[in-house]
Amino acid sequence: MPELGRIYWTRQGLRLAYSAVMVWLAVAVMSALMAKATPAVGAGPSAAAGVLSGMVENVVATVALPGVAAVVLGIAAAVITGRDVRRRDPVRRFTRQQRREGIARSGGQCEMEAGFGRRCSRPAEHGDHFYPWSKGGSTSIQNFVAACARCNRAKGAKIPSPGQQERLERRRRDYLPPSSSVSVGERQSLP
Ligand SMILES: [Zn+2]
Repeated sequence: MPELGRIYWTRQGLRLAYSAVMVWLAVAVMSALMAKATPAVGAGPSAAAGVLSGMVENVVATVALPGVAAVVLGIAAAVITGRDVRRRDPVRRFTRQQRREGIARSGGQCEMEAGFGRRCSRPAEHGDHFYPWSKGGSTSIQNFVAACARCNRAKGAKIPSPGQQERLERRRRDYLPPSSSVSVGERQSLP
């Protein structure tokens, strides 16, 4: 799955940008409020109202730019999610045949990582979609990773990092027969 790096880093970048915009937004609101937080003491009610409306204008003005950035990022995230949903494989579960083949290929042992790049030593019980099904991963033997219950649960619907992919493919060279491919991961194309 050569496009994993691009997908993974695009999404990490978006997440980072979103967090940065949220911090920017919070700082902008706070500094706008602080700027007018000291109204003249003893002024009449109309003066207080003037201070209040000035404060509101100030907040709106400073929040406009980070607000627009947050909306743009939100739209980008919604487009990505929509495309993930359209990519979804109509077949959710691996067939018994695929599960048998994938678990036999792994020698009945979980293929996931157990820290420091080592292979998990527990017996494989499930077929895990390496590229998550919910994000458009294929229900195919190419996207099948044999997993124990604990690893399967821990992984959830997270997109694996390119490093995880590389380490799994490297580990597979040790136990897969030379005839079968170590490459892992498959994503459905957009319909
Ligand atoms: Zn495991």
